[in-house]
Amino acid sequence: MSSTNRLRIAIQKSGRLSKDCQSLLKQLGVKLNLREERLIAHSTNMPIDVLRVRDDDIPGLVMDGVCDLGIVGENVLVEAQAERLKGGQPAEVEKLSSLDFGYCRLALAWPQELGPQSKSWFQGKRIATTYPQILKNYLKAENINAQVVVLTGSVEVAPRAGLADAICDLVSTGATLEANGLMQGDTILESNACLIKNPTMSCPDKAALINKLLPRLKGVRQAKESKYIMLHAPKAKLDEICALLPGTGQPTLLALAGSDELVALHMVSSETLFWETMEELKALGASSILVMPIEKMME
Ligand code: ATP
Ligand code: MG
Repeated sequence: MSSTNRLRIAIQKSGRLSKDCQSLLKQLGVKLNLREERLIAHSTNMPIDVLRVRDDDIPGLVMDGVCDLGIVGENVLVEAQAERLKGGQPAEVEKLSSLDFGYCRLALAWPQELGPQSKSWFQGKRIATTYPQILKNYLKAENINAQVVVLTGSVEVAPRAGLADAICDLVSTGATLEANGLMQGDTILESNACLIKNPTMSCPDKAALINKLLPRLKGVRQAKESKYIMLHAPKAKLDEICALLPGTGQPTLLALAGSDELVALHMVSSETLFWETMEELKALGASSILVMPIEKMME
């Protein structure tokens, strides 16, 4: 591939998504020469360039075709799409995959001392947010006539600072809201990171590379969700033991040296074994029960 044919992936430079993005690329087998100050990191083993930018810029870079792929929070993507549609700009992206990090929700919150409030309380109020388009669409759908105050950061201090009556902000554990004396209300949007693609990208070399990366991504996810289980089982109890094991895979049975009653059972399970199940297996005569993580999988 020539340098213009190198696949360009936009990720967050520094923030909540950057570590997970970097480790995902590593798990996909993309070796990167990352230097803190550099905007572009070139892969040393694949025709891939990684652009490290602010997360707010990622949807636009992908929509405009500056980058072929991007990893961004659903919240930032939905807001950028609404903003672009309003301005009549292209707002299409292809969502290739949901990723298992960056979980959060966009929720309403107001000062705790006001106690629980219904939706009608928001009529005529000022609500501070970094996500004005998502909030406006919600307010419109709910027939709430409120003023949206746009802040790019520290939204949670807006009520105390007298800038707004309530907020609409990202929450994961709720600790920040609690620390700022705020009570959480309705969730407007559930979000996690996702992999997006420019829908008009037509380079066959890049398409082939994406088709190579996607099964790897599936393999990484499956490996994370799966466990390799090994145990010794009495032959007489095999059916009962197999019935307790989660997942649909066929177990491998191996003879155990020096034992006619026991066999070794190995299987890949689609989920982990809980302590309770391990105790039930033991009660059926199983022993040497091992539950191990899997690094990579390909079916
Ligand atoms: P940047 O400098 O790149 O613009 P930022 O300050 O806008 O960074 P971060 O705080 O790093 O953004 O959050 C990035 C993304 O992480 C969010 O857009 C969201 O998708 C996700 N996220 C997960 N949990 C939270 C949380 N508790 N608060 C904020 N964002 C969260
Ligand atoms: Mg940002």
